[in-house]
Amino acid sequence: MQTIRRRLSILFFTCSIAAILLITLFVNLTINNKFNQYMIDIQNKRYERIVSYFEEVYKKQGKWTEYSGVELMHEAYMGNYCLTLMDSNKKTIWGMDPNEIKNNLHLDTMMTKDTGVYNARTFEIKSDGKIVGYVEIGQYSSVLLSEEDVNFKASINKSIIASGILTLVIIVTISLYFSKQFSIPIKEVANMSVSLSKGNFNAKSSTESNIEELENLRKSVNILAEKLKHQDNLRKRLVSDISHEIRTPLNILQNNLEAMIDGVFPVTADRLNYLNQEVVRFGRLLNNLNVLKEFESESIKLNFETVFLDELLEDISKDFYVAAENKKINLSYNLEPGEKYIITGDKDKLRQVFINLLSNAIKFTEENGKIDLKLYSTDKKYIVEVKDSGIGIKREDQPFIFERLYRGDKSRHQIEGSGIGLTIVKNILQLHYATIDVKSEEGKGSIFIISFDKEINN
Ligand code: ADP
Repeated sequence: MQTIRRRLSILFFTCSIAAILLITLFVNLTINNKFNQYMIDIQNKRYERIVSYFEEVYKKQGKWTEYSGVELMHEAYMGNYCLTLMDSNKKTIWGMDPNEIKNNLHLDTMMTKDTGVYNARTFEIKSDGKIVGYVEIGQYSSVLLSEEDVNFKASINKSIIASGILTLVIIVTISLYFSKQFSIPIKEVANMSVSLSKGNFNAKSSTESNIEELENLRKSVNILAEKLKHQDNLRKRLVSDISHEIRTPLNILQNNLEAMIDGVFPVTADRLNYLNQEVVRFGRLLNNLNVLKEFESESIKLNFETVFLDELLEDISKDFYVAAENKKINLSYNLEPGEKYIITGDKDKLRQVFINLLSNAIKFTEENGKIDLKLYSTDKKYIVEVKDSGIGIKREDQPFIFERLYRGDKSRHQIEGSGIGLTIVKNILQLHYATIDVKSEEGKGSIFIISFDKEINN
């Protein structure tokens, strides 16, 4: 198996080499073609010039002599080509020896010592439209290009190769850099998920990436780790809470029963009654857990009907007046008029929500306190507020109060409770697409704010 970085580098590398080779080949072919075309043009012009020179000479002299046009011989010798002048019967008047050209010093300076094939072309020399002679121009194929021409071609080829190598170096550097940008965050996230799968929920990926998808992936895996950590803590707490809740009544029962068996305590109706209460408490705890299980299962059935929130709240608040009065708590219900407050929901389950919230408010509010139940509406929501002047909730407890069996410190030690009331509230509200928020200050009181979406309920 290969690493991402290696795979990406190989990919970049292969693509760049292919691109460079293709470009080099294409540029080279184009330049060679153009250059050869240029050379052929030059050669043709030379042929034309030589033929017209001889035509001029014939025009001036009116016949061929062995000196006609010999002045071209020097130029031909220097240009490495061979001239032969013939009369109209193709009889040689004068001519150069191709071997002389072959041995010409100039050849030694060429890039190759291979002289190539000797090619000769014969051109007609005309005067007044009549053929008066022939000139044969011959040269070795390798001599088609002069030394400068060969150097020029070689230097172009060198530059193409040099730019190819330079591009390759740049591409390799860039590809290493970019493949690193991809591979490092992916590698980190991969390592992190391995840590998570091993149960190390403290793992965190901190290398930020400027690639949007990778950054989103990194953030989501970090959030996932946070959530798993949170769930793991809750699970541990749940187990310790349940065992604590179960152990307390069991210990009481065990100690008392042992004392009665040993004859330390007399078996009286009072004592049995007390033990029975512990058994009842124990049973209630199990019942609560059952209720919770029911609400957390997906299959819970709701009986949806039209619910008039204002009437429901008024009913419930009436039920709580006595309980509030017993604790000398002032319970008030305020309704903002002008709205119908109709929602679709399960009336009994919603009743349970407000009962739990009001019970908590009474439970956590000391004597002479105040509880305000309020119903009002905003543009898009119906809002129910349950506000109390009770003991409040510590800031560090606030994020957890809706979790199963979570109980605030004070509640755990001084006030009876099971820690599932708010979990049930949240579950019921979620089934109604409603939300619940809490604002609370320790020692001053708490406000629970429930929002029902008007649109969903219309
Ligand atoms: P319980 O009330 O049985 O302990 P809940 O799930 O109803 O369980 O509440 C969870 C915790 O939230 C409580 O233990 C308490 O610490 C805190 N809490 C809930 N309502 C209030 C309130 N009105 N005032 C202060 N604390 C509250």
